[in-house]
Formats: sequence, C-alpha cells, structure tokens
Amino acid sequence: MSLSLKGKRGLVLGIANRHSIAYGCAKVMAEMGAELCITYLNEKSKPYVEPLAEELGAKLLLPCDVSVDGELEAVFHEMEKQWGTLDFAIHSIAWSPLEELHGRLVDSSSAGFSKAMDISCHSFVRMAKQCQRLMPDGGTLLTMSYEGAEKVVDHYNLMGPIKSALDSCARYLASELGEQQIRVHSISPGPMPTRAASGIDHFDELMEDATSRSPLHRLGTLEDIGSLAAFLVSDLAKTQTGNRIFVDAGRHLIG
Ligand code: NAD
Repeated sequence: MSLSLKGKRGLVLGIANRHSIAYGCAKVMAEMGAELCITYLNEKSKPYVEPLAEELGAKLLLPCDVSVDGELEAVFHEMEKQWGTLDFAIHSIAWSPLEELHGRLVDSSSAGFSKAMDISCHSFVRMAKQCQRLMPDGGTLLTMSYEGAEKVVDHYNLMGPIKSALDSCARYLASELGEQQIRVHSISPGPMPTRAASGIDHFDELMEDATSRSPLHRLGTLEDIGSLAAFLVSDLAKTQTGNRIFVDAGRHLIG
C-alpha cells in the first residue's frame, strides 16, 4: 500500500506564511492528494495566507481566531455544509503575551498564563469536540508540541508547562475518542525558524545547539514534519494513536 491522501479532506489551522509548520504540512498533504480547508487569523494576515491557499488548491479559506467566540465553530459549520465529513485536522497554533514569554514562569500573571493556555492548548480540545461531529467514521487529529514540554529548555518559560498540558490533552483525547476511531497525536519538531519562534529569546542559539548536538547533526525541514503528518493521517497509521513523535534529528535523546 502506498501513501496517498486521495479522497481525504482536512483542516489546517496555523498558516501565517510560507515558513509556518502548518504550511509545510499542508504542502505535503496537498501533494499527496488531500483536499484542504485553510484558515487565516484575521484580515491583517489574510493577504499572506490567501496566495498560499490558492497555490495549495485549498477548497476552503476561512477566518479563524480561536480566541474569538464562535469563529472555530463557524469553520466547522462551513466544512459540514460543503463537505459533510472531515478526515483530519491539524492544530499548529500557539500564542503568549510577549512579556510573559520573555519572563520567568514564576513571574507569569494569571491572566497572561490563562490566555496563552487557552489559545495554545484548550483550542485543541475545542477543535476535537467539533471534529467528533464531522468524523462519524473516524479521523485523525494532530497538534504541535516541543521538547520544552518535558525538559527545561532555556528561554521557553511558560510555554513549557503549556506544551506539557497539550501533550497530556492529546493522550486523554486519544483515549476518549478512540471508540469513534478518532486517532490523536502530538508531533514534536525541533527548532524551526518561524514567526512564532522569533518571539523566543536566543532562538538562534537553540538552533545552533540542535544542529551541533543532535545525533543526526541537522535541523528538520518543513517537509520532514509534513511527511510525518501525512503518514499519521493516512490509512497506513490506522492502528496508531496517543503518540508523541519527535521530528528533531534525535536532539531529545541528548541531555
Ligand atoms: P507560526 O508563527 O508560523 O505559526 C503560529 C500560528 O499560530 C500562526 O499562524 C498564528 O496565526 C496562529 N495563531 C496565533 N494565535 C492564534 C489565535 N488566537 N487563533 C488562531 N490562530 C492563532 O509558527 P510555527 O513555529 O509554525 O508554530 C506552529 C506550532 O508549532 C506552534 O504550536 C508552535 O509552538 C509549534 N512548534 C514550533 C517550533 C519551532 O521551532 N518553530 C518547534 C516545535 C513546535
């Protein structure tokens, strides 16, 4: 059996530009024959995402700020109207107030931590709830984690515990939704030069470290992450669920 996504329909949340991990996933999946629904954060980001959606032949392009009541639900209503069902959904979004991200966890405010947790983690749970309705015969949900979820990575600060919670949500959702044949995984890429990453202090050092100390001595590419995502949503991975999978050239092995 070869890897094909022909006949599969999927939602990709989190394309900001051509460097986004979500774009890497969407590109590989479109090349493998998937039909896509792509979202953009707001009117300001639309001009950057629209040409990419066209290039990818996306059938649907819709606004979605997960912190705005009803926007995520509206995306699912539109997909239900146009498609009826959905085969996979990729959650590749994270956000924190910059002052919180740049400070110590111990100094984080309740409001800042909660907002970051809501956008970066609980939105995955909300996405899963919507997917339940559109995946009566099963499907796959993926989210993006990071090594800082389980080890202390300098300058990752409050995003560490938030990614831990996200990984845990993926496991619990895999357990709760397994009955309906919905599979759930978190993918853990190594450092990638994206816009979200540019908010992390000393990110260049993290990339240098990943290159010099990973067993394979290289950084991952968007295609590497997209290929893994494509495999996970394909029928080839139908007995896999609840995994946390690294795409980091083995960096997580080294202390
Ligand atoms: P990116 O900036 O390209 O993508 C982040 C996306 O989150 C953007 O498209 C942005 O619009 C979206 N977003 C932020 N707030 C949102 C909201 N309220 N509603 C909807 N969307 C919102 O950066 P990226 O690196 O591709 O990030 C994608 C995911 O990958 C994130 O979860 C990030 O933590 C994770 N990740 C990144 C790296 C890395 O080194 N870049 C490593 C591991 C994991």
